[in-house]
Amino acid sequence: MMNKPKRLILKPGKEESLNRFHPWIFSGAIQKMENQPQEGDLVEVYNAEGRYMAVGHYQPDSIAVRILSFAPAVIDESFWTERIREACTFRMSIGLLNANSNVCRLVHGEGDNLPGLIIDLYGRTAVMQAHSAGMHHARKQIAVALQNVLRENIQSVYYKSENTLPFKAGLAAEDGFLTGEEAEKTAMENGLKFIIDLQKGQKTGFFIDQRDNRFLLESYSRNRTVLNLFCYTGGFSVYAMRGGAQLVHSVDSSSRAITIARSNMDMNFPDDTRHEAFAEDAFRFLANAGSTYDLIILDPPAFAKRRDVLRNALQGYRKLNATALAKIKRGGILFTFSCSQAVTRENFRLSVFSAAAQAGRRVRIIHQLSQPADHPVNIYHPEGEYLKGLVLHVE
Ligand code: SAH
Repeated sequence: MMNKPKRLILKPGKEESLNRFHPWIFSGAIQKMENQPQEGDLVEVYNAEGRYMAVGHYQPDSIAVRILSFAPAVIDESFWTERIREACTFRMSIGLLNANSNVCRLVHGEGDNLPGLIIDLYGRTAVMQAHSAGMHHARKQIAVALQNVLRENIQSVYYKSENTLPFKAGLAAEDGFLTGEEAEKTAMENGLKFIIDLQKGQKTGFFIDQRDNRFLLESYSRNRTVLNLFCYTGGFSVYAMRGGAQLVHSVDSSSRAITIARSNMDMNFPDDTRHEAFAEDAFRFLANAGSTYDLIILDPPAFAKRRDVLRNALQGYRKLNATALAKIKRGGILFTFSCSQAVTRENFRLSVFSAAAQAGRRVRIIHQLSQPADHPVNIYHPEGEYLKGLVLHVE
């Protein structure tokens, strides 16, 4: 796999986005390829005049190349070590890992100049996810690089790519340990403990990206009745409890997630009867709910995974938010999110605006939320901004 990169020549003028450091090359920009690169191969990219532009991973797809370096570079263990060290140094410099928190995203794809690669850290376990065949091929080198950087601070690297890899090359990826054989079972975030559902859970086992927003929610929870829809393992609910909520109802259609949400609650607030969890459809639960909640959280899964289903997605957000806005108590607070990459911040705001008008409530935006610092957005790759949230005050 680590043989010499093949060469790829762009059509005239198609290097413009690379001059602006955009990390992808679309298939339409390619004039020709030498020695037919295979999925996951390294390719060197040249402009039509033969000038070197970049090196990256090839994929026979509309995103044909994911750029690893705009300067000539050998992609080997020391390359991965350097990149991972940069990513780690940044997280350390802003104090993300401390006495109260041992979980963070260590590598966020394009945001860390490593397109196709996600690495989350839970205590001394790293969970790696490849979204391209190239990163899949490099997984063992990357695991070594992680150890080069983290040394005794890491005891295992778990690979979890079965569901994230493109299948064209029949990669037959299997989830499992690349290093070590045991994973942390719980992690601590802002002093709260959470079970990490490594093997069967969503993403890498936990939604790290909502950390700052959960923390904000805590400060709005005092004496409120809280409904957490699409709660997964109850992240927002645990913070609401610490914030002094009167009661907290958690709803998710996954009974596995609900079982873990209950355990998370028992771990942090044993014998506290303020919390109840329901393994139910969130839309149905909301439709049947009375107007008894004064804080509602809507954090549904991505309604639009692709651009062509955008219209339906926006209607979905409008309907869901309209129902919540119609039901929330006077003076209530709504935390509402979209994690669809295809939905822009503006579009999301517009659907919530329509929802407010439809519900006929007076609504003010009091916070506009995003993804946290360990999920950085590469400024040359605005597509990387996926998490959008609004906190609304409803009269
Ligand atoms: N807020 C959570 C993450 C939510 S992810 C956190 O901070 O950890 C979205 C969740 O929506 C998933 O757990 C998924 O199981 C759930 N889900 C998807 N469709 C649903 C439906 N129709 N009703 C209820 N939950 C649903």
